[in-house]
Amino acid sequence: MIERNLTQEEVDALPFEHNLSDGHAFRSWTHAESAIIAQSARFFAESDRRGGQRAEAEYIRRYLALGGQSYIPDYFTGLMSYSASMAVEIVANLLRLRRLSAALIEPCFDNIADILRRHRVPLQPFPETVLTDGTAALEALLETLTADVIFLVSPNNPTGTVVSEAAFTRIVEYCVAEGKLLVLDGCFRVYLSDEEVYDHYRILAASGIDCVVIEDTGKVWPAAELKAPFLSVSPRLVSAVIGMHSDFLLHLSPFTVRLITEFVCLAEADGGRYLRELVVENRTLFQSRIPGSFLRTDDTQKLGLAWLEVSAGGLDGEGVRRLLAERGVHVLSGERFYWSSPHLGRRHLRMALLRDPDIIVHASAVIADLWDELGVG
Ligand SMILES: *Cc1c(COP(=O)(O)O)cnc(C)c1O
Repeated sequence: MIERNLTQEEVDALPFEHNLSDGHAFRSWTHAESAIIAQSARFFAESDRRGGQRAEAEYIRRYLALGGQSYIPDYFTGLMSYSASMAVEIVANLLRLRRLSAALIEPCFDNIADILRRHRVPLQPFPETVLTDGTAALEALLETLTADVIFLVSPNNPTGTVVSEAAFTRIVEYCVAEGKLLVLDGCFRVYLSDEEVYDHYRILAASGIDCVVIEDTGKVWPAAELKAPFLSVSPRLVSAVIGMHSDFLLHLSPFTVRLITEFVCLAEADGGRYLRELVVENRTLFQSRIPGSFLRTDDTQKLGLAWLEVSAGGLDGEGVRRLLAERGVHVLSGERFYWSSPHLGRRHLRMALLRDPDIIVHASAVIADLWDELGVG
């Protein structure tokens, strides 16, 4: 097991050209995105704290609409955040103060489990396989669940697994019946295809349960790490959450909110299709070049990330990661995504696709060369 966390690995890979380590949007701007960036000096000059709250509400409404979500300000209070991780930190504080335990989806990005554990929130795994193995699997899990909180990520990082509408409805129904709190991290919702979109916010508001939804734009638009994450908090949790939130933040930069709103408006024109297509192109480039006998795609092909299983015997994810790093290509290995049962990720690698195609082509060539070099196939 690797001692360092995934983000530390990602930080170390930042200086390298062939960094496919983090899932942030490090790609060139499209022509239309460039036109927005070209106006950024004006957005800066027009930024005004006095219009900030109105601008935030408008941003949240438009961002949710892009994701096919209802904007329900009577139920949800929207609180802006610097990062989605800060939103997780706030949720973790809330759970600790209320002495709540949580069933957390597995696999997931390691910082969610690490933050919850640092606050000594007792964790139990919510294996994502119960979302794909049919209703009996989900029912069996719900029957044995003892945690006070269910914490889901959909679509999930790294696998792209989606909580279907039927499963979500059932989980919410369970939360109503058992008085559980639901946390949903929807940071990748823009990558869902039209058929997979349903209205989380409407279902949650209609149920009346306590819940927090975490949203983010950092894995979507390349804005030099400027992003506009937010928490949507249900009525009974607001007073507790808002106090903590105000300990961290007075006001997210209105410039950032404006810039990201412009990106949202751009995506509205085609319902976000261009964002998904950029990823599909890179995925196709990659899959046509790497030998499937070496690395097999083991994801839903949704996110700007590829989750790969090492299919050759005798090699594990960490071994391949090291060999690739020696050759200048930086990816993550899978164990740390399985925060409860690391061995389940032993054969996996995660590779970023939100990059320029030439980076993907180069990395694919390095991987193919490595496969030849190993001579196992
Ligand atoms: C990246 C990520 C986060 C954290 O986002 P930051 O804004 O970088 O802190 C939270 N949740 C999920 C699912 C993520 O992939």
